[in-house]
Amino acid sequence: MGFQVFGIAVSQGVAIGRAVLVGAGRVDVAHYFVDEAEVPQEAARCRAACEEVAQELIELKGDLPGDAPPELAALLDVHLMMVRDEAFVGAALHWITERRYNAEWALSAQMETLARQFDEMEDEYLRERKADLEQIVTRVLEALSREAQGTAAQPALVHAPRDFAGEDPLLLVASDIAPADLMGFRQGVFKGFITDVGGRTSHTAIVARSMDIPAVVGTREASRLIRQDDWVIIDGDAGVAIVDPSPAVLDEYRFRQRQADLEKQRLSLWRHRPAVTLDGEMVEMLANIELPADAHAALSAGADGVGLFRTEFLFMNRGGKLPTEDEQYAAYRDTILALNGKPLTLRTVDVGADKPLDREARHDHVLNPALGLRAIRWSLSEPVMFRQQLRAAFRAAVHGPVRLLIPMVAHLSELRQVHDAMARIRSQWASISTEPLPKIELGIMVEIPAAALILDRVLPLVDFVSIGTNDLIQYTLAIDRGDEAVAHLYDPWHPAVLQLIAQVIRQAKAAGKSVSVCGEMAGDLSFTALLIGLGLRSFSMNPPQITLVKQRILRADASKLANVAQAVLAHEQPQVHAKALGL
Ligand code: PEP
Ligand code: MG
Repeated sequence: MGFQVFGIAVSQGVAIGRAVLVGAGRVDVAHYFVDEAEVPQEAARCRAACEEVAQELIELKGDLPGDAPPELAALLDVHLMMVRDEAFVGAALHWITERRYNAEWALSAQMETLARQFDEMEDEYLRERKADLEQIVTRVLEALSREAQGTAAQPALVHAPRDFAGEDPLLLVASDIAPADLMGFRQGVFKGFITDVGGRTSHTAIVARSMDIPAVVGTREASRLIRQDDWVIIDGDAGVAIVDPSPAVLDEYRFRQRQADLEKQRLSLWRHRPAVTLDGEMVEMLANIELPADAHAALSAGADGVGLFRTEFLFMNRGGKLPTEDEQYAAYRDTILALNGKPLTLRTVDVGADKPLDREARHDHVLNPALGLRAIRWSLSEPVMFRQQLRAAFRAAVHGPVRLLIPMVAHLSELRQVHDAMARIRSQWASISTEPLPKIELGIMVEIPAAALILDRVLPLVDFVSIGTNDLIQYTLAIDRGDEAVAHLYDPWHPAVLQLIAQVIRQAKAAGKSVSVCGEMAGDLSFTALLIGLGLRSFSMNPPQITLVKQRILRADASKLANVAQAVLAHEQPQVHAKALGL
């Protein structure tokens, strides 16, 4: 019997496929695909970890004191039986061989499947065995983690794309997806995402939009209601997941999918046309990227360059080991070379809050991580790491135009420290490289209201600014951008937010400094005309949004929109007024 799960529509389109449950919040493990050649080794890892736990249990039982309650020995026997149960181990191995999941993922997927079956049992005693299963799987996962640390075998961040040709498309269903895991999932394996948590600018949403695949987040309980391998339709326009749909519903959605594909093909014809308004204003269309490989997607989407390279994704999920200066240099150089003379805006590392360095760090107890030691605050507290990143950027800039973008600046002193660090590299340049010192422009993200409010003092210290609307909204309205419970209050149309954006654009332009918007608002069609009206001439967004926004710009009259924008800004309900004016 089919049913629907409602959430927040964050990435448009229709996806139809089978559900793959990841994590479901019980255990937090690495999820990645192994190459076909690695399957036997991965299966052996899984078997060896199960056997290691079996030996632990035998030893534990042997060490039980004489006065231990007899139930304890019986319980250890149950656990031993489970961890050696061929049906259980065999099913986990099946996930490895058939789907090429890593051992940890295979075990947790099998645990999820069995946990559902336990939940449905009538007999209370049997139902309670679910806890035993979870304990056993947790032990095996711990054994795997010890083994991985021992061999220092970190899963590679980027995995060979799995070839699912001829198989059913797969949709990812999870309680939450760690940003580091998202990077692994960007290889095109999944055709859609559904998560229990998240809001419009949470990282699952941003990555789904950058991959141009439908996503629904903030469903609260999709990962509890949907089962492994269920057939699901993701309606990314309505924010609904339809589970076990009827044939008539499937037909309807397949038709919509075909229509959307045709529309995309039509839009791709605009790709390489410059974005010029009807009255001749040129608009720069930049791309947001997360990995060097994304540079190609940016160019083929028609981007004029990269307005935001979120370098933190190079730092994540490396088991606490940061990328070396040479590794960073190679990544930046490759991106610059791929851009073929178009500018690259490198944002210095912005870890913390919803983008922890490691998957496990998400659970560290920090009361307000979004207000904590993140972004430039973290960089300045790790001067060796920060200097390495700056040096890598300077060395890479020898190969093409680079601009440095500093995230989360709130204090002028932070900016001065960045200047000092850059000056030090310039003064040491002769010992770093034999090439002439490259020129690097410096800019800040305006994403904390304080930066917007002291912009007149910031501007003399920078070459450009980029407005990070995702965080600017979060910090202006005191709304956690990833919390679905307050997602309805995360309002980009709030007059306070619009005033700050308008003011930053006006002041930057008056000072002759370039200004861009690189938050999700830049790729949101409902804001294109307003931002043009406010004087914005540089947008940076996920590559798939570029043609859509460009189409809107080509139909815009910037001088007329300037008056309209002021009227919207002055209105008590800007969104209602913008709609009434047909923006
Ligand atoms: C922003 O805050 O708008 C932004 C672009 O940065 P991020 O989404 O990476 O925090
Ligand atoms: Mg930000």
